[in-house]
Amino acid sequence: MEANRVYNFNPGPATMPLEVLKETQKEFLNFDNSGMSIIEISHRSKEYEQVHNQAKADIKELMGLGDDYDVLFIQGGASTEFAMVPMNFALNGKKGNYVLSGSFSTKAFKEAEIQGVGAIAASSKENDFRNIPKQSDIKLGDDAAYLHICYNNTIYGTEYHYIPETSSIPLIADMSSDMLSRPLDFNKFSLIYAGVQKNLGPAGVALVVVKKSFIENSPENIPTMFRYNTYSKKNSLYNTPPAFGIYFVGKVAAWIKKQGGLSVMAEKNAKKAALLYDIIDNSNNFYRGHAEKDSRSFMNVTFRLPSEELEAKFIAKAKEKQLCGIKGHRSVGGLRASIYNAMPYEGVKCLADFMVEFQKNN
Ligand SMILES: *Cc1c(COP(=O)(O)O)cnc(C)c1O
Repeated sequence: MEANRVYNFNPGPATMPLEVLKETQKEFLNFDNSGMSIIEISHRSKEYEQVHNQAKADIKELMGLGDDYDVLFIQGGASTEFAMVPMNFALNGKKGNYVLSGSFSTKAFKEAEIQGVGAIAASSKENDFRNIPKQSDIKLGDDAAYLHICYNNTIYGTEYHYIPETSSIPLIADMSSDMLSRPLDFNKFSLIYAGVQKNLGPAGVALVVVKKSFIENSPENIPTMFRYNTYSKKNSLYNTPPAFGIYFVGKVAAWIKKQGGLSVMAEKNAKKAALLYDIIDNSNNFYRGHAEKDSRSFMNVTFRLPSEELEAKFIAKAKEKQLCGIKGHRSVGGLRASIYNAMPYEGVKCLADFMVEFQKNN
Protein backbone atom coordinates (compact mmCIF):
# COMPACT_ATOMS: atom_id res chain seq x y z
CA MET A 1 0.00 0.00 0.00
CA GLU A 2 1.13 3.53 -0.78
CA ALA A 3 2.26 5.47 2.31
CA ASN A 4 -0.54 7.61 3.81
CA ARG A 5 -3.21 5.90 1.69
CA VAL A 6 -5.83 3.54 3.11
CA TYR A 7 -7.83 0.72 1.58
CA ASN A 8 -10.93 2.67 0.61
CA PHE A 9 -14.13 0.59 0.46
CA ASN A 10 -16.40 3.60 0.00
CA PRO A 11 -19.35 3.08 -2.39
CA GLY A 12 -18.88 6.28 -4.37
CA PRO A 13 -17.02 8.52 -4.68
CA ALA A 14 -14.76 5.53 -4.53
CA THR A 15 -11.19 4.33 -4.81
CA MET A 16 -9.46 5.04 -8.13
CA PRO A 17 -6.41 3.35 -9.68
CA LEU A 18 -3.31 4.71 -7.96
CA GLU A 19 -1.45 4.73 -11.27
CA VAL A 20 -4.06 7.03 -12.78
CA LEU A 21 -4.07 9.37 -9.78
CA LYS A 22 -0.30 9.69 -9.98
CA GLU A 23 -0.26 10.28 -13.72
CA THR A 24 -2.93 12.95 -13.34
CA GLN A 25 -0.91 14.63 -10.63
CA LYS A 26 2.25 14.50 -12.69
CA GLU A 27 0.78 16.21 -15.74
CA PHE A 28 -1.55 18.59 -13.93
CA LEU A 29 0.48 21.79 -14.21
CA ASN A 30 1.55 21.33 -17.80
CA PHE A 31 -0.79 19.22 -19.87
CA ASP A 32 0.67 17.91 -23.12
CA ASN A 33 3.27 20.69 -23.18
CA SER A 34 0.58 23.35 -23.37
CA GLY A 35 1.91 25.16 -20.29
CA MET A 36 -1.62 24.90 -18.87
CA SER A 37 -3.59 22.33 -16.93
CA ILE A 38 -6.41 20.35 -18.49
CA ILE A 39 -8.94 22.50 -16.60
CA GLU A 40 -7.46 25.69 -18.01
CA ILE A 41 -7.37 24.90 -21.70
CA SER A 42 -10.20 25.42 -24.17
CA HIS A 43 -12.59 22.56 -24.76
CA ARG A 44 -12.23 23.48 -28.44
CA SER A 45 -8.44 23.07 -28.42
CA LYS A 46 -6.83 20.20 -30.28
CA GLU A 47 -5.24 18.98 -27.03
CA TYR A 48 -8.61 18.61 -25.36
CA GLU A 49 -10.34 17.14 -28.41
CA GLN A 50 -7.72 14.42 -28.57
CA VAL A 51 -8.44 13.47 -24.93
CA HIS A 52 -12.20 13.56 -25.48
CA ASN A 53 -12.20 11.46 -28.64
CA GLN A 54 -9.69 8.94 -27.32
CA ALA A 55 -11.82 8.38 -24.20
CA LYS A 56 -14.86 7.71 -26.38
CA ALA A 57 -12.95 5.34 -28.65
CA ASP A 58 -11.43 3.39 -25.76
CA ILE A 59 -14.79 2.95 -24.03
CA LYS A 60 -16.39 1.65 -27.23
CA GLU A 61 -13.47 -0.67 -27.85
CA LEU A 62 -13.63 -2.06 -24.30
CA MET A 63 -17.36 -2.70 -24.69
CA GLY A 64 -16.95 -4.27 -28.10
CA LEU A 65 -19.35 -1.83 -29.75
CA GLY A 66 -19.35 -0.70 -33.36
CA ASP A 67 -20.30 2.42 -35.29
CA ASP A 68 -23.98 1.97 -34.53
CA TYR A 69 -23.28 3.09 -30.96
CA ASP A 70 -22.25 6.46 -29.59
CA VAL A 71 -20.61 7.50 -26.33
CA LEU A 72 -21.93 10.67 -24.68
CA PHE A 73 -20.75 12.66 -21.69
CA ILE A 74 -23.54 14.45 -19.83
CA GLN A 75 -23.42 16.53 -16.65
CA GLY A 76 -25.68 15.97 -13.68
CA GLY A 77 -24.74 12.42 -12.73
CA ALA A 78 -26.95 9.37 -12.97
CA SER A 79 -29.86 11.15 -11.28
CA THR A 80 -30.30 13.49 -14.25
CA GLU A 81 -30.46 10.42 -16.48
CA PHE A 82 -33.36 9.17 -14.34
CA ALA A 83 -35.33 12.18 -15.61
CA MET A 84 -33.95 12.34 -19.16
CA VAL A 85 -34.85 8.76 -20.00
CA PRO A 86 -38.65 9.14 -19.70
CA MET A 87 -38.48 12.69 -21.19
CA ASN A 88 -36.82 11.34 -24.32
CA PHE A 89 -38.40 7.93 -24.74
CA ALA A 90 -41.77 7.59 -22.99
CA LEU A 91 -43.67 9.37 -25.77
CA ASN A 92 -47.04 9.18 -27.52
CA GLY A 93 -48.91 7.72 -24.56
CA LYS A 94 -46.37 4.95 -24.01
CA LYS A 95 -44.95 4.14 -20.60
CA GLY A 96 -41.51 3.59 -19.17
CA ASN A 97 -41.51 0.12 -17.58
CA TYR A 98 -39.29 -0.31 -14.52
CA VAL A 99 -37.89 -3.20 -12.57
CA LEU A 100 -37.59 -2.08 -8.96
CA SER A 101 -34.56 -3.83 -7.47
CA GLY A 102 -33.34 -1.23 -4.98
CA SER A 103 -33.11 2.46 -4.11
CA PHE A 104 -31.80 3.84 -7.37
CA SER A 105 -34.19 1.96 -9.64
CA THR A 106 -37.02 3.21 -7.42
CA LYS A 107 -35.74 6.77 -7.79
CA ALA A 108 -35.56 6.31 -11.56
CA PHE A 109 -39.17 5.06 -11.57
CA LYS A 110 -40.26 8.07 -9.50
CA GLU A 111 -38.89 10.44 -12.14
CA ALA A 112 -41.06 8.68 -14.72
CA GLU A 113 -44.03 8.92 -12.34
CA ILE A 114 -43.52 12.70 -12.02
CA GLN A 115 -43.91 12.83 -15.79
CA GLY A 116 -46.99 10.58 -15.61
CA VAL A 117 -45.35 7.82 -17.64
CA GLY A 118 -44.10 5.25 -15.09
CA ALA A 119 -45.13 1.59 -14.81
CA ILE A 120 -43.71 -1.19 -12.65
CA ALA A 121 -42.68 -4.32 -14.55
CA ALA A 122 -41.34 -6.23 -11.52
CA SER A 123 -40.20 -5.55 -7.99
CA SER A 124 -38.23 -7.29 -5.24
CA LYS A 125 -39.22 -4.74 -2.60
CA GLU A 126 -41.31 -7.27 -0.64
CA ASN A 127 -38.12 -9.28 -0.21
CA ASP A 128 -36.17 -6.28 1.11
CA PHE A 129 -34.45 -6.07 -2.29
CA ARG A 130 -32.44 -9.23 -1.51
CA ASN A 131 -32.82 -10.55 -5.03
CA ILE A 132 -32.92 -9.51 -8.66
CA PRO A 133 -36.31 -10.32 -10.21
CA LYS A 134 -36.16 -13.23 -12.65
CA GLN A 135 -37.04 -13.04 -16.31
CA SER A 136 -40.37 -14.75 -15.58
CA ASP A 137 -41.23 -12.04 -13.00
CA ILE A 138 -40.93 -9.22 -15.55
CA LYS A 139 -44.27 -8.17 -17.03
CA LEU A 140 -44.01 -5.66 -19.83
CA GLY A 141 -47.10 -3.59 -20.59
CA ASP A 142 -48.56 -3.51 -24.10
CA ASP A 143 -47.79 0.20 -24.08
CA ALA A 144 -44.15 -0.21 -22.91
CA ALA A 145 -41.79 2.37 -24.39
CA TYR A 146 -38.76 0.68 -22.84
CA LEU A 147 -37.68 -1.52 -19.96
CA HIS A 148 -35.41 0.17 -17.41
CA ILE A 149 -33.25 -1.88 -15.06
CA CYS A 150 -30.49 -1.07 -12.58
CA TYR A 151 -27.80 -3.64 -13.30
CA ASN A 152 -25.96 -3.41 -10.00
CA ASN A 153 -27.71 -2.27 -6.84
CA THR A 154 -25.04 -0.37 -4.98
CA ILE A 155 -26.92 -0.13 -1.67
CA TYR A 156 -28.40 -3.64 -1.40
CA GLY A 157 -25.45 -5.45 -2.98
CA THR A 158 -27.27 -7.31 -5.74
CA GLU A 159 -26.44 -7.56 -9.43
CA TYR A 160 -28.06 -9.01 -12.54
CA HIS A 161 -26.50 -12.22 -13.79
CA TYR A 162 -28.58 -12.24 -16.96
CA ILE A 163 -29.74 -9.71 -19.54
CA PRO A 164 -33.54 -9.48 -19.60
CA GLU A 165 -35.12 -10.50 -22.89
CA THR A 166 -37.53 -7.81 -24.08
CA SER A 167 -38.11 -8.82 -27.73
CA SER A 168 -38.53 -5.52 -29.57
CA ILE A 169 -38.85 -3.26 -26.49
CA PRO A 170 -35.67 -1.17 -25.98
CA LEU A 171 -33.65 -2.13 -22.90
CA ILE A 172 -32.15 0.68 -20.80
CA ALA A 173 -29.77 0.08 -17.90
CA ASP A 174 -28.30 2.11 -15.07
CA MET A 175 -24.81 0.63 -14.68
CA SER A 176 -23.43 3.35 -12.43
CA SER A 177 -21.77 0.92 -10.05
CA ASP A 178 -20.62 -1.84 -12.40
CA MET A 179 -19.79 -0.03 -15.64
CA LEU A 180 -16.73 -1.57 -17.32
CA SER A 181 -16.40 -4.21 -14.59
CA ARG A 182 -17.06 -7.21 -16.89
CA PRO A 183 -17.85 -8.05 -20.49
CA LEU A 184 -21.48 -8.35 -21.55
CA ASP A 185 -23.33 -8.42 -24.84
CA PHE A 186 -23.78 -4.67 -24.73
CA ASN A 187 -25.44 -4.77 -28.16
CA LYS A 188 -28.59 -5.95 -26.38
CA PHE A 189 -28.99 -2.54 -24.74
CA SER A 190 -30.41 0.52 -26.42
CA LEU A 191 -28.97 2.83 -23.76
CA ILE A 192 -26.66 2.37 -20.80
CA TYR A 193 -25.74 5.13 -18.37
CA ALA A 194 -23.47 5.51 -15.39
CA GLY A 195 -22.59 8.23 -12.94
CA VAL A 196 -18.84 7.75 -13.16
CA GLN A 197 -17.92 8.31 -9.51
CA LYS A 198 -18.27 4.63 -8.57
CA ASN A 199 -15.98 2.86 -10.96
CA LEU A 200 -14.55 5.34 -13.45
CA GLY A 201 -13.74 8.82 -12.22
CA PRO A 202 -14.75 11.95 -10.34
CA ALA A 203 -18.40 12.91 -9.75
CA GLY A 204 -19.99 15.25 -12.25
CA VAL A 205 -20.10 13.16 -15.41
CA ALA A 206 -22.63 10.64 -16.60
CA LEU A 207 -21.25 8.29 -19.20
CA VAL A 208 -23.97 7.32 -21.68
CA VAL A 209 -23.54 4.59 -24.27
CA VAL A 210 -26.38 4.55 -26.72
CA LYS A 211 -27.55 3.00 -29.97
CA LYS A 212 -27.48 5.88 -32.48
CA SER A 213 -30.80 4.95 -34.08
CA PHE A 214 -32.49 5.16 -30.66
CA ILE A 215 -31.81 8.89 -30.28
CA GLU A 216 -32.02 10.16 -33.84
CA ASN A 217 -35.23 12.06 -33.17
CA SER A 218 -35.22 13.43 -29.65
CA PRO A 219 -38.43 15.35 -28.90
CA GLU A 220 -38.11 19.04 -29.70
CA ASN A 221 -40.42 20.25 -26.97
CA ILE A 222 -37.96 19.50 -24.18
CA PRO A 223 -35.02 21.72 -23.24
CA THR A 224 -31.95 21.43 -25.43
CA MET A 225 -29.71 20.16 -22.64
CA PHE A 226 -32.13 17.31 -21.86
CA ARG A 227 -32.28 15.99 -25.42
CA TYR A 228 -29.92 13.08 -26.08
CA ASN A 229 -29.38 14.08 -29.69
CA THR A 230 -27.97 17.46 -28.61
CA TYR A 231 -25.01 15.46 -27.31
CA SER A 232 -24.74 13.04 -30.21
CA LYS A 233 -24.91 15.76 -32.87
CA LYS A 234 -22.22 17.87 -31.21
CA ASN A 235 -19.87 15.13 -29.99
CA SER A 236 -20.85 16.07 -26.38
CA LEU A 237 -19.39 19.52 -27.02
CA TYR A 238 -22.59 21.55 -27.38
CA ASN A 239 -21.60 23.47 -24.28
CA THR A 240 -18.50 23.31 -22.06
CA PRO A 241 -18.13 19.68 -21.02
CA PRO A 242 -16.86 18.56 -17.59
CA ALA A 243 -13.39 18.35 -19.10
CA PHE A 244 -11.43 17.16 -16.09
CA GLY A 245 -13.89 14.35 -15.41
CA ILE A 246 -13.84 13.18 -19.02
CA TYR A 247 -10.05 13.33 -19.08
CA PHE A 248 -9.92 11.19 -15.93
CA VAL A 249 -12.47 8.67 -17.25
CA GLY A 250 -10.33 8.41 -20.39
CA LYS A 251 -7.31 7.58 -18.26
CA VAL A 252 -9.25 4.93 -16.34
CA ALA A 253 -10.45 3.39 -19.62
CA ALA A 254 -6.84 3.27 -20.85
CA TRP A 255 -5.83 1.69 -17.53
CA ILE A 256 -8.50 -1.01 -17.96
CA LYS A 257 -7.21 -1.67 -21.48
CA LYS A 258 -3.71 -2.04 -20.10
CA GLN A 259 -4.95 -4.55 -17.51
CA GLY A 260 -6.25 -6.68 -20.38
CA GLY A 261 -9.79 -5.38 -20.86
CA LEU A 262 -13.13 -6.33 -19.40
CA SER A 263 -12.65 -10.11 -19.22
CA VAL A 264 -9.52 -9.64 -17.11
CA MET A 265 -11.36 -7.13 -14.91
CA ALA A 266 -14.20 -9.65 -14.50
CA GLU A 267 -11.81 -12.40 -13.44
CA LYS A 268 -10.13 -10.16 -10.89
CA ASN A 269 -13.45 -8.86 -9.57
CA ALA A 270 -14.88 -12.38 -9.20
CA LYS A 271 -11.80 -13.49 -7.26
CA LYS A 272 -12.05 -10.52 -4.89
CA ALA A 273 -15.77 -11.03 -4.30
CA ALA A 274 -15.30 -14.77 -3.70
CA LEU A 275 -12.82 -14.03 -0.88
CA LEU A 276 -15.50 -12.16 1.06
CA TYR A 277 -18.51 -14.31 0.19
CA ASP A 278 -16.61 -17.47 1.20
CA ILE A 279 -15.97 -16.01 4.62
CA ILE A 280 -19.60 -14.99 4.99
CA ASP A 281 -20.77 -18.48 3.94
CA ASN A 282 -18.36 -20.26 6.28
CA SER A 283 -18.91 -18.06 9.33
CA ASN A 284 -21.69 -20.14 10.94
CA ASN A 285 -24.04 -17.21 10.47
CA PHE A 286 -21.76 -14.74 12.30
CA TYR A 287 -21.66 -12.77 9.05
CA ARG A 288 -25.04 -12.65 7.27
CA GLY A 289 -25.10 -11.60 3.65
CA HIS A 290 -27.98 -9.35 2.64
CA ALA A 291 -28.24 -10.56 -0.96
CA GLU A 292 -29.57 -13.96 -1.94
CA LYS A 293 -26.75 -16.09 -3.33
CA ASP A 294 -27.84 -16.08 -6.95
CA SER A 295 -28.20 -12.28 -6.96
CA ARG A 296 -24.93 -11.35 -5.27
CA SER A 297 -22.99 -8.35 -6.53
CA PHE A 298 -19.33 -8.54 -7.54
CA MET A 299 -19.01 -4.86 -6.68
CA ASN A 300 -20.77 -4.24 -3.35
CA VAL A 301 -20.68 -6.94 -0.69
CA THR A 302 -23.35 -6.25 1.95
CA PHE A 303 -23.53 -8.11 5.25
CA ARG A 304 -24.59 -7.83 8.85
CA LEU A 305 -23.18 -9.02 12.18
CA PRO A 306 -25.13 -10.49 15.12
CA SER A 307 -25.66 -7.06 16.75
CA GLU A 308 -25.32 -3.37 15.99
CA GLU A 309 -22.75 -3.07 18.78
CA LEU A 310 -20.57 -5.65 17.04
CA GLU A 311 -21.04 -3.84 13.74
CA ALA A 312 -19.86 -0.57 15.30
CA LYS A 313 -16.88 -2.36 16.85
CA PHE A 314 -16.08 -4.01 13.51
CA ILE A 315 -16.00 -0.63 11.75
CA ALA A 316 -13.79 0.92 14.45
CA LYS A 317 -11.32 -1.98 14.53
CA ALA A 318 -11.18 -2.16 10.74
CA LYS A 319 -10.26 1.49 10.63
CA GLU A 320 -7.25 0.79 12.84
CA LYS A 321 -6.08 -1.55 10.06
CA GLN A 322 -6.52 1.19 7.40
CA LEU A 323 -9.69 -0.49 6.11
CA CYS A 324 -12.07 2.43 5.56
CA GLY A 325 -15.55 3.13 4.22
CA ILE A 326 -17.22 -0.17 5.14
CA LYS A 327 -20.25 1.16 6.98
CA GLY A 328 -23.43 0.07 5.20
CA HIS A 329 -25.99 2.47 3.76
CA ARG A 330 -28.49 3.68 6.38
CA SER A 331 -31.38 1.96 4.60
CA VAL A 332 -29.82 -1.51 4.97
CA GLY A 333 -27.52 -1.02 7.96
CA GLY A 334 -24.60 -3.31 8.68
CA LEU A 335 -21.52 -3.36 6.52
CA ARG A 336 -20.78 -2.88 2.87
CA ALA A 337 -17.46 -3.45 1.16
CA SER A 338 -17.35 -1.80 -2.25
CA ILE A 339 -14.69 -3.55 -4.28
CA TYR A 340 -14.71 -1.84 -7.65
CA ASN A 341 -12.14 -2.31 -10.42
CA ALA A 342 -9.54 -0.16 -8.68
CA MET A 343 -9.64 -2.02 -5.35
CA PRO A 344 -6.55 -4.26 -5.38
CA TYR A 345 -6.74 -7.94 -4.40
CA GLU A 346 -4.43 -7.19 -1.47
CA GLY A 347 -6.96 -4.74 -0.05
CA VAL A 348 -9.74 -7.32 -0.14
CA LYS A 349 -7.41 -9.98 1.28
CA CYS A 350 -6.60 -7.64 4.13
CA LEU A 351 -10.33 -7.19 4.85
CA ALA A 352 -10.94 -10.96 4.55
CA ASP A 353 -8.15 -11.72 7.05
CA PHE A 354 -9.55 -9.08 9.36
CA MET A 355 -13.04 -10.64 9.16
CA VAL A 356 -11.69 -14.06 10.18
CA GLU A 357 -9.71 -12.56 13.04
CA PHE A 358 -12.65 -10.42 14.23
CA GLN A 359 -14.95 -13.43 14.37
CA LYS A 360 -12.38 -15.39 16.38
CA ASN A 361 -12.08 -12.59 18.93
CA ASN A 362 -15.79 -11.92 19.23
C1 LIG B 1 -24.72 6.28 -7.12
C2 LIG B 1 -25.74 5.77 -8.03
C3 LIG B 1 -26.66 6.61 -8.65
C4 LIG B 1 -26.71 8.10 -8.40
O1 LIG B 1 -25.66 8.71 -9.04
P1 LIG B 1 -25.49 10.32 -9.04
O2 LIG B 1 -24.41 10.50 -10.04
O3 LIG B 1 -25.12 10.69 -7.65
O4 LIG B 1 -26.76 10.91 -9.47
C5 LIG B 1 -27.57 6.03 -9.52
N1 LIG B 1 -27.58 4.71 -9.76
C6 LIG B 1 -26.71 3.88 -9.17
C7 LIG B 1 -26.77 2.42 -9.46
C8 LIG B 1 -25.77 4.37 -8.29
O5 LIG B 1 -24.90 3.54 -7.70
